[in-house]
Amino acid sequence: MDLEFDRKHIWHPYASLINPPPVYPVARAEGVRIFLEDGRGLIDGMSSWWSALHGYNVPELNQAMRNQMDKMSHVMFGGLTHEPAIELCKKLVEITPPGLNRVFLADSGSVSVEVAIKMALQFWHSQGKPGKSKLLALRNGYHGDTFGAMATCDPVTGMHHLFAGQLSQHLFAPTPQTPFGQTCPDEDIRELEQLVAQNSEQLAAVILEPIVQGAGGMRFYSADYLRRVRALCDEYDLLLIADEIATGFGRSGKMFACDHAAISPDILTLGKALTGGTMTLAAALCSDRIAEGICNGEAGVFMHGPTFMGNPLACSVANASIQLLLSSPWQERVTAIEQQLTEQLAPLKSAQGVADVRALGAIGVVEMREPVNMAKVQEALIERGIWLRPFGKLVYAMPPYVISKEDLSQLTSAMVDVLGETS
Ligand code: PMP
Repeated sequence: MDLEFDRKHIWHPYASLINPPPVYPVARAEGVRIFLEDGRGLIDGMSSWWSALHGYNVPELNQAMRNQMDKMSHVMFGGLTHEPAIELCKKLVEITPPGLNRVFLADSGSVSVEVAIKMALQFWHSQGKPGKSKLLALRNGYHGDTFGAMATCDPVTGMHHLFAGQLSQHLFAPTPQTPFGQTCPDEDIRELEQLVAQNSEQLAAVILEPIVQGAGGMRFYSADYLRRVRALCDEYDLLLIADEIATGFGRSGKMFACDHAAISPDILTLGKALTGGTMTLAAALCSDRIAEGICNGEAGVFMHGPTFMGNPLACSVANASIQLLLSSPWQERVTAIEQQLTEQLAPLKSAQGVADVRALGAIGVVEMREPVNMAKVQEALIERGIWLRPFGKLVYAMPPYVISKEDLSQLTSAMVDVLGETS
């Protein structure tokens, strides 16, 4: 591969073209392993950023794409529809929290967040309350890299402060402090409660990542907190937008993270694992109330329509992925992964450079006291046959659910070795 060309000409995510970080040439991927061009196999602890639940080169997923490819790879969705989209939307309505009956198919996670925000604003416009146009987001939240989504990311610790002047101004409540598994004391939700009470006339919705704050810090917070936010939204007539782009499809131990609190949001965003990590597809689901409001409003339609909306190849493979997930013992697998991550990463708790170690579902997080040298840690992990992408102070793993006990042990012992050493 022409890595020199890559270094000079191709943008990688969040990377410099003058001082590019190392990129490793991948030739193929199989099961839970990524194979580099030189033949080295690396256990993928990232599931390609939360998406490859079933690992790689999965026969059922490949077959679904092949079958669909022979019929129709793409067709516009304006004025046309097809079986893969209908089947997928039926399944999504069935498996997501109750009441989310209407589905908009988007083409990436960030776009589904844009769609969710537009749904909320169009809804309040339709109710004769166009002043309800602000969002209340959580500090350390992350919802994507497009302008609407960026405006809901933490303006202080987030990656987007450079654009602050151009972004819509929203309100932010403190990061929830109550850990997962604990009852939320009044103090933890007081400021959010006050912000809601004081601004309900201008607030359209609360937007949050339920239970797991991902890219903004890999924190796991209380289901009770989430339940109380839902109750506050009801009390003050705000919508709740749950961004489950990262947590959807079992990652936190429940099919959706909202299920931990037994709540339904008014709008739900999905992406990443929707196609089992094979193709780009996302969705925003909403309740009948929102959809009916929007369609009875001034515009009479929902104002969004991407070219590749409802791509049949992506919908077919999403159907196959959901079917594979539902027919597998995914919950037992995720529980077993959580137990193994908890036990095997525990020795790091006493390492000097480590601030915290935590696991929830198939997510294991080591939070260091200082930011790690990403390239150095990555190289040391690669030497031990592991692929992870550290970020700031965080080194975390969210492997495919099909990872074997032995491979997960290799992953955790590499983390213990390398992070024990760096400390
Ligand atoms: N919301 C959350 C919670 C995410 O984790 C991400 C992806 N990092 C996004 C939104 C944006 O999704 P995408 O990268 O597909 O645009």
